[in-house]
Amino acid sequence: MSQIRLHANENWYNPLSEIKDTLIERLSDIDLHVYPDPDANRLKKELSDYTGVSEAELICTNGSDELIKIIFECYSKAGDSIVIHSPTFIEYTVMSEIRGCKTCAVDPNDDLSPNIDEIINTSVKENASITFICNPNNPTGYLFSIRDINRIIDSVPGIVVVDEAYVEFSQVSLLGKEYNKDKVVIMRTLSKAFGAAALRVGYGIAAPKMIEEMNKVKMPFNLSTVSQESAIVLLENKERLIQIVKNIRRERMRIYGALSALQENTGRIEVFPSFGNYILLRSNLTTDIYTALTDEGFIVRNFAHDKNLENCLRFAITQPKVNSQVVDIIRKVVSA
Ligand code: PMP
Repeated sequence: MSQIRLHANENWYNPLSEIKDTLIERLSDIDLHVYPDPDANRLKKELSDYTGVSEAELICTNGSDELIKIIFECYSKAGDSIVIHSPTFIEYTVMSEIRGCKTCAVDPNDDLSPNIDEIINTSVKENASITFICNPNNPTGYLFSIRDINRIIDSVPGIVVVDEAYVEFSQVSLLGKEYNKDKVVIMRTLSKAFGAAALRVGYGIAAPKMIEEMNKVKMPFNLSTVSQESAIVLLENKERLIQIVKNIRRERMRIYGALSALQENTGRIEVFPSFGNYILLRSNLTTDIYTALTDEGFIVRNFAHDKNLENCLRFAITQPKVNSQVVDIIRKVVSA
């Protein structure tokens, strides 16, 4: 049986496949004996057009995972505290441990929304070097308000990282708003909306002074020419993305509606509103739902044993047919 991957928030609309011919043509022009551009200048030009920030405010990285590592190397030392809001993307904790930092995870409210006051209190009390905000949050789908983000930025001692990996699905960004640019790194990626996780292209947006600091610890040839050139082709075709993102947002609303109705009718699941390309649900029947989905070939993320995510399960939103199949399987288990 073929398996359908819904556990890694991937974009199955796969925009790259639509521009395969252009891509092959451009990749065939690459001189394989020549080192890549260490500054990714042409890619930065495209990203500057896409984001509206200057090239001096951009750093390109091997996925945004690499950017997290660079941020730790630049802005923390062993023994420092860093603050995250639990539950969130695991990689902040992984990198913190590698760096020898103390990870202070702030528990959420009952509805899994972040406790903003406690994030600020913890960061101040711990004199945190870095405070992470994942917006929209993976895996809950929660969207911070710009007001809350600015409250955090203006109150905490160290730098603030705003991870906008899923920003195209929420369409709410800190970019373009007023904020203290001297202490913020915004993280972005082509892995999600652009459907290019295999390429490993992430980027950071920050004040030129911070970009200079991060460039000092970046490996010189961190992005291969193949990745840079493919990313450029994607960005040149960015208007195609708009329709794909629209489809996913529309499907997310439809699936959220169907699961909310199931929540209301049965009281046996709880579904969380999401601003990403995924939906999180909580239920005493999570193990049964997970098994039923797995039996039908759908790989989803089972958080059953993670702190603050007990009985939770997350799946990516994709094409309508697949989304409907997932809901039908959930409905069958919950209604049995
Ligand atoms: N941030 C968040 C919130 C993510 O969910 C992910 C990937 N799942 C990443 C960053 C890393 O993305 P990548 O390294 O592919 O750019």
